Amino acid sequence: MTATIISGTQIREEILAEISQEVQGIRQKYGEIPGLVTILVGENPASQSYVSLKIKTANRLGFHEVQDNQPDHISEEDLLALIDQYNQDEKIHGILVQLPLPQQINEENIINAIHPDKDVDGFHPVNAGRLLIGGTAVKFPPCTPAAIQEMIVRAGVPIEGAEVVVVGRSNIVGKPIANMLLQKGTGANATVTVVHTRTRNMDTHCKRADILIVAAGVPNLVKPEWIKPGACVIDVGVNRVGEKISEKTGKKIAILKGDVDFEKAKDVAGFITPVPGGVGPMTITMLMRNTLRSLKYKLGLIE
Ligand code: NAP
Repeated sequence: MTATIISGTQIREEILAEISQEVQGIRQKYGEIPGLVTILVGENPASQSYVSLKIKTANRLGFHEVQDNQPDHISEEDLLALIDQYNQDEKIHGILVQLPLPQQINEENIINAIHPDKDVDGFHPVNAGRLLIGGTAVKFPPCTPAAIQEMIVRAGVPIEGAEVVVVGRSNIVGKPIANMLLQKGTGANATVTVVHTRTRNMDTHCKRADILIVAAGVPNLVKPEWIKPGACVIDVGVNRVGEKISEKTGKKIAILKGDVDFEKAKDVAGFITPVPGGVGPMTITMLMRNTLRSLKYKLGLIE
């Protein structure tokens, strides 16, 4: 069996076209466009690259986009003041602070300072709580879990009643996606198991999965023999395992591998996401969707 590849880049294009159309409609009817500020502290190359992709996508969609770069030595107090400024800014509907932050800054304090109505990453405790409740309480589903759910749904893989196994229990991927898929509702209603480093017989759990979601950050952790034939495998892992010269730009770029042994796993799975080109491109798309959602809440278009 060769698995159907669930392409994040292809689904991204579909969703960006949908967002773009909605943005145009809202602009014509209400004279407003979604506004996103990206706050980048310091010069971490990986963070710079993520932020530049976010800016590029926001521009492409015709968003009002503000790029706010701050020096590595900024104090927590100054960063909190900056966030407060954007909390008050009527033109800004989404505030994104690129993580990680330098050591002198407490990340939790920063996340908590973003107004929950502008927390398009969905990391604020209020939004985490709303996600736990589910249904219409959810305002901003966190971007990577939202990307995973969207990819499974758009691939036509049934989630209702499915055995889902999630490898990893982080606050940004494992726990929220497990919660989202077990909710009562469409694109959910699954039976969910979460495994982690203290789990006994991880392979036995994985082998039961109709949908296996892997977010551990360990290259090739999931072996092909752990996969149930025909299962849907979502590989969230992004592991830098070396460097190569890009054929396109001639510059040095990272060689990326997922948490699943893709080459062998695709002969067992029914559906699989590649790395790169899978969940990664979709995550930024979901950030754009949340920023649009924020404007729609403000305009009363979503209750
Ligand atoms: P994280 O905070 O480090 O959490 C990793 C989780 O995996 C932990 O719960 C850990 O268990 C578990 N784990 C690690 N090694 C394991 C093993 N050998 N067996 C079983 N469980 C194991 O990582 P994260 O932020 O969730 O990210 C996970 C991966 O996804 C990373 O590669 C990251 O780069 C990638 N990622 C990609 C995107 C995207 O947009 N594509 C977004 C976010 C993250 P314990 O809790 O027991 O330690």
